[in-house]
Order: sequence, then structure tokens, then C-alpha cells
Amino acid sequence: MTEYFEVETEAAEQSIDITERVKEIVKRVAPETGTAQIMVLHSTAAVVVNETADPNIGKDVLRALDAFAPRRNDWLHDRIDDNAHSHVKASLLGPSEVVPVVSGELLLGTWQGIWLFEFDGPRTRRVAVHVSA
Ligand code: ZN
Repeated sequence: MTEYFEVETEAAEQSIDITERVKEIVKRVAPETGTAQIMVLHSTAAVVVNETADPNIGKDVLRALDAFAPRRNDWLHDRIDDNAHSHVKASLLGPSEVVPVVSGELLLGTWQGIWLFEFDGPRTRRVAVHVSA
């Protein structure tokens, strides 16, 4: 079963904690035991499991990625679309995570949550949560 939700991002680059939205879907539709795949359906955004208790971690990840893939770098893709650095950052993090479902709930560590990373906003981002037994 696959459910979807949308996130309105508010900046060119942003980290957004989507853990509660995913948990709500899993609680409603997931089997007792299985897996949930959380995937953003765009090529300039990413989904990552990491600590969300401190929002600065998301900001630090953005900062690290910016050092690695700066906005201006004579990117080839900028010749046709001015967002190559966004694609590079999204590629480094990846579009999805798979999280086990145990006793009908996401199995996450104490400090773990689910980040949605925006690299080419602001936009409306669609996220799929695919649960299977
Ligand atoms: Zn592009």
C-alpha cells in the first residue's frame, strides 16, 4: 500500500522533519511487521534518517553539502537548467530510506527521525510512503 503527502518548502535549501507525518501514515496503514519505504518523488530533494531532535543537524548537513557541491562550479547541467548543485546534493543523499515496521510502528533509534531535504525550493514536494508486509 502506498500513501502520499505533500510538503510546501519555504526556502531554496531547507531541512524539514517529516517524522510525524510518516508515523501517522504507518500507524494507520502499516501491517504489524514489515517495512516502510519513504521516498521523495523529485530529483532535487532527498530523504534521510538521522537525528532530528536538534534541527541544527539538518542545517549542518546543508552546510557540508554546500562545501562539497557549491552553487557555482561551472556545472554542465547549468547550461540547460540552473540547478546542477541541487541534483548533485540530492544524488549524494538519495531519494529514499527503508525503515522497519515493528509492532505497527516505525523502528527508529531514540534520536533518529526522518528528514526531507530541499535543494531547489521553494516548491511543493510529494513524498510517498510505501508499506509492505
Ligand atoms: Zn535540473
